[in-house]
Amino acid sequence: MHTRRTLTVALSTVLALSVAGIVGATGAQAAPVAQTQVSAQVATKQVAKKPKPKSRAVRGARGGSFAAQVQATAASVAAPYWVDVAWVDTTSCGERGGVSRTFVTVRGCSTPGTGTIELSLGGGNPANTRVSRGRVLAMVTAVTQHEVAHRLIERTTGSLFPVERNENVADAYAVTYLGMNPALVSYGYTDGDVATAVAIHG
Ligand SMILES: [Zn+2]
Repeated sequence: MHTRRTLTVALSTVLALSVAGIVGATGAQAAPVAQTQVSAQVATKQVAKKPKPKSRAVRGARGGSFAAQVQATAASVAAPYWVDVAWVDTTSCGERGGVSRTFVTVRGCSTPGTGTIELSLGGGNPANTRVSRGRVLAMVTAVTQHEVAHRLIERTTGSLFPVERNENVADAYAVTYLGMNPALVSYGYTDGDVATAVAIHG
């Protein structure tokens, strides 16, 4: 159980990256998904190939391995920093990711004082979407890097939220030091945020 204070703090660490279909992306870009998150919306390919009965079984078989690949990807991003990843349906921040045919949302959550970050696809199987697998892996990687940045900032400063713009600084830190794709940041950052991240990193 989290205290209200912890929950409030934790909520501000939420990072969500989403991929939406063409129609969904247009609306989502106009209005962020939720008040405590900012989402990166990317259009899926419009051309959907018709699945052949034969390939369906193959897809199912690969589905299991792709889910494992997704988890392995996050783990490999976090492991060098001695950070563990816990996959949950609903994060401690109270958020769920999701997987549908045309939309994938990855949510991350960090709570103070742990060596673990939480990631969520809402319990969905990442194989069950037409969003490209490369895109899903890129999103998972970016969310992981963002959450790991929180952890590293906490280790250095003693606080998960040492500055007011902690989300933006986490993005800046992740891009600067963890190789996060600048196109997949969810909060965005300024030169000042980068300077803050550099000052924290030392
Ligand atoms: Zn965050």
